Amino acid sequence: MQFKDVIGNSELKRRLINMAQSRRIGHSIMFVEQDGCGALPMALAFIQYISCQNKVSSEDSCGECPMCQKLSKMMHPDLHIVFPVNATSKSGSDKKPISDHFLTQWRNLVEANPYFLESQLYQQIKIEDKVGTISVAQAKDILTKLSLKSYEGNNKYMLIYLPERMNTEAANRLLKIVEEPSDGTYFIFVTHSPENVLGTIRSRSLMVRVHPVEIPLLSQYLQNKYSLSEQQALSYARSSNGSVGQAIVALQQSSQGVEFLSEAVKMIGCAAKKDLLGLLKNNEQIIEFGRQAQKEFCCYLQQLLRNILMYQNGLERISNATPAEVDAIESLSKVVPKKSIEGWVKAIDKTIFAIESNVNAKIAFCNLSNYLYVG
Ligand SMILES: [Zn+2]
Repeated sequence: MQFKDVIGNSELKRRLINMAQSRRIGHSIMFVEQDGCGALPMALAFIQYISCQNKVSSEDSCGECPMCQKLSKMMHPDLHIVFPVNATSKSGSDKKPISDHFLTQWRNLVEANPYFLESQLYQQIKIEDKVGTISVAQAKDILTKLSLKSYEGNNKYMLIYLPERMNTEAANRLLKIVEEPSDGTYFIFVTHSPENVLGTIRSRSLMVRVHPVEIPLLSQYLQNKYSLSEQQALSYARSSNGSVGQAIVALQQSSQGVEFLSEAVKMIGCAAKKDLLGLLKNNEQIIEFGRQAQKEFCCYLQQLLRNILMYQNGLERISNATPAEVDAIESLSKVVPKKSIEGWVKAIDKTIFAIESNVNAKIAFCNLSNYLYVG
């Protein structure tokens, strides 16, 4: 990651560059941000700037020397990365997961979007609805890693994402080494909630605030990256309060909304026509969504059916529907039998239950199709 790839916060970049140039870098630095504002890319760019062996300009790392290459892929042996994790459905109850078990998923996530939100990390490492923690097992692993010599004879970096997820025992174990790290060892923390980090660790760290990105700058970024119109980009930038990560999530959800609407319209249309083959064929697309999105799709479908019923009952203004949904509701309300809707909503409840119980999605949606066909 280079500074030029980090959006906004130019004053902070300058401060970090000055700090590195004067070679007075604190041994523990805590980047503070609101979720998604860019503290992680900023921290990665800072580490890369300090380590770059071929700084052509004073403003940024070169991005090409071996150090930059390895750091940008997060494959440098002296860059250790720690983040909150938890047991997954695949790890047995006796396992004590640590970040190293999830490094590939972490790298993929950062590569796809370094502004990811905390909740997206948990989705990525598939700990589902659990929150991650930084455990004693993880603290022990950190101590072991830092007791080894640096692989390449230079600095060692311990990047800890969300130290507020560390339990007290783990934090206490790390206290001494954060207070007195050996020469060339740097702790770089990224936190959303410094008040929940153990006070003694916080007080040893230089606090650095990463501000929300200015709205015009974020809007420009969204326009370029996602080919949005100026007006659309501005509206996402404003509603995310300058959090790049939040803006991206809102954008993805709205494009998911478009996909959900198109699949839901096909499904309800086939159900109204009693087209079993059409229903089954349509399922193929829905099964592709993945389990979490299948569940969300079912809830979406129920909401759409309720709106159709309201429309049929004479309530024409449906406040929470988008213009595209209003069109769909209007035309579907002409073909869907009013008496069927309640039964369909209940059948979808059963599908949601089946998905939550890990029933094969193909079977769950096939059962739903059968019900929509007869019901
Ligand atoms: Zn370089």
